[in-house]
Amino acid sequence: VVERFRGDVAFEDVSFSYDGKRSAVQDVSFAAQAGENVALVGATGSGKSTTLGLLHRAFDPQSGSIRIDGLDIRDVTLASLRRNIGVVFQEPMLFARTIRENLQVGLPNATDAEMIEALERAQAIEFIARQAEGLDTVIGERGRSLSGGERQRLSIARALLKNPPILILDEATSALDAATERKLQMALDEVMRGRTTFVIAHRLATIRNADRILVFDGGRVVESGTFDDL
Ligand code: ATP
Ligand code: MG
Repeated sequence: VVERFRGDVAFEDVSFSYDGKRSAVQDVSFAAQAGENVALVGATGSGKSTTLGLLHRAFDPQSGSIRIDGLDIRDVTLASLRRNIGVVFQEPMLFARTIRENLQVGLPNATDAEMIEALERAQAIEFIARQAEGLDTVIGERGRSLSGGERQRLSIARALLKNPPILILDEATSALDAATERKLQMALDEVMRGRTTFVIAHRLATIRNADRILVFDGGRVVESGTFDDL
């Protein structure tokens, strides 16, 4: 049982098909060292989300291997894998429960003080402080009573509480106003620091700052390198 990974990640000739006919991901190889920040770019349908789904074992590849710290992820328990990988999606999984309960998913022992600190670091404290009930505020079905940017920052707070060595992030495509953009950027910088991060990137700033960029096309990585290389 692995308690905590360092966060070295390596894909080797990974291929995956949803239907057994057409490959969604084909012969993908890349490596990221612990703490590196990797951006995935490419057209819609090019295999970015599928690649990151394979990393947290939403499904397993038909061929090739995925290793973390040299260990094949099929030899790691799912619980241990998921403890080590945080995910921040555009449309995070939120429930029609209180903000506290939403933050405590998988972290039942998180204290109010820890939650408040995570919300502060995620730039999410303001909109929660605005609610009369604070952490006891019940958010609507799928978090519908919050804006998209608020939902995402709540999900960043959840990732900060979990504190995993590896983070998967699906960046929002929607245009944000300048103030929201700045808050989101601060929250993202905070949650990415010191972790191996894989970001499905839509913003130029994210791509520019990445240690490595993987360019996807038709399920393959067709180019990789830094912003200046490409
Ligand atoms: P986007 O930028 O639109 O999110 P993406 O690069 O993340 O695209 P993927 O979602 O990985 O692309 O899709 C890769 C291929 O797999 C596409 O051809 C897509 O239609 C297919 N695909 C994705 N999810 C499924 C699914 N759940 N079932 C069947 N096919 C899927
Ligand atoms: Mg996608």
